[in-house]
Amino acid sequence: MTDTAPPTGPAVRVPVPRPSAAPIPPVPTPAYVYDLAAVRSAHARLRSCLPEPSELYYSLKANPHPAIISALHGLGCRAEVTSPGELDAALEAGVPAHDILYTGPGKRDEDLDGALKGGVRDFAVDSVHGVGQLDRAAARYGVRVTYLLRVNPGGGSRGAGLRMTGDPSAFGADAEDIAAHPEWYTGGEHARIDGLHLYLATNIADEQALGDSFSEAIAVARTLRKALGVPLHTIDLGGGFGAPYARAGELPAYPGLADRLAGELDEALPGWRQNAPTVAFESGRYLTATCGQLLTRVLDVKDSHGQRVVVLDTGINHLGGMAGLRRVPPLHPDVVRPDGAEAEDTGAGDGASAGIAEPPGPAMICGPLCTPLDTWARSHPLPAVAPGDLLSVPNTGAYGLHASLVLFLGHPAPLEVVTDGDRVLRSDRLTFVRRAAAG
Ligand SMILES: *Cc1c(COP(=O)(O)O)cnc(C)c1O
Repeated sequence: MTDTAPPTGPAVRVPVPRPSAAPIPPVPTPAYVYDLAAVRSAHARLRSCLPEPSELYYSLKANPHPAIISALHGLGCRAEVTSPGELDAALEAGVPAHDILYTGPGKRDEDLDGALKGGVRDFAVDSVHGVGQLDRAAARYGVRVTYLLRVNPGGGSRGAGLRMTGDPSAFGADAEDIAAHPEWYTGGEHARIDGLHLYLATNIADEQALGDSFSEAIAVARTLRKALGVPLHTIDLGGGFGAPYARAGELPAYPGLADRLAGELDEALPGWRQNAPTVAFESGRYLTATCGQLLTRVLDVKDSHGQRVVVLDTGINHLGGMAGLRRVPPLHPDVVRPDGAEAEDTGAGDGASAGIAEPPGPAMICGPLCTPLDTWARSHPLPAVAPGDLLSVPNTGAYGLHASLVLFLGHPAPLEVVTDGDRVLRSDRLTFVRRAAAG
């Protein structure tokens, strides 16, 4: 599940600073540019907030680009996947099957078969049925596997961008039910419980609130560990680390979190310092949000009933498709010039129609799709731009392309360019092909 907090900061200033220190490669637009140097620095920053020793999972749903997956695996992250497509992405990016955790509240038998065939032996299950389903799949395949039991605690964590527990949910088994019927949840002959999976919140910038959600997870783990009465080797405390989305800003800092959690773990799960149990965390957005920017060009500028309207070459098909589900705030693209200089409010752009004087003042910013839903912002202070001008939307490395309505209206996918600082490493494009169904 994903969510973003409602916009809280002031509107983006104009002109705005460059969103990333990395230079912008001269590429056709629309294009996502992912900078691996930024992935490394986000990873280092997150690790510095976590108690040691602990494991960190990269949740592929934030961005399954192979270069990002393999960069994070190279930094020591295991991969958390939730679908056949994410499993393939992890394996193709070079993550060995023993470093993959397969999660998700609804799995088809063939999804489990595919994962087992691919060598995956670590799963998360969300229900009594899920335990039996996994046990039968492992028996069919003639292997033994382990799983984390995902828990839906009774309380619910407040202050989260999105609450996923304490209420009816597809995610996890109720803590009360696990405590009442531990034997339902410890597994069968082929699939055995190995630990607990808690994921109580998402996208929390506030250190206190994030710490509180982990405290709740630790308390639940402590209680259920006793109730289950079997050895638990892994306690996955989940995530909730925040990140800016499609607007300027920095990753939040959690300077006191590691010490706070270490103290609570000493109390609740003594042995964790010797990996008994191993404590794990998960993140998607914190690791990848700031590595990405979406480059787009202005296609049209006009006056419509007294309002300046700017049409870009990308929209909800490439970014923020979940806006249609009221899950993302209006987008405020920052402006950069093609040569990398900061934009100035000169009254004219430097694109094909340079020289056309634009009225100053806010603009309605739209994507190219034939639907009024494809609106970035109704009224946003944008300097004068003209068709051909280059804009950049910062902090779009997480929940960008892969959370968007890519098939809607049939525009090609944007280019995806991977850089490492000022070096361009690769560039490619997803394509969609219809094929006859087998059988
Ligand atoms: C979505 C999700 C994540 C990643 O969330 P971010 O906010 O991107 O860090 C991690 N774990 C689980 C179980 C999730 O559903």
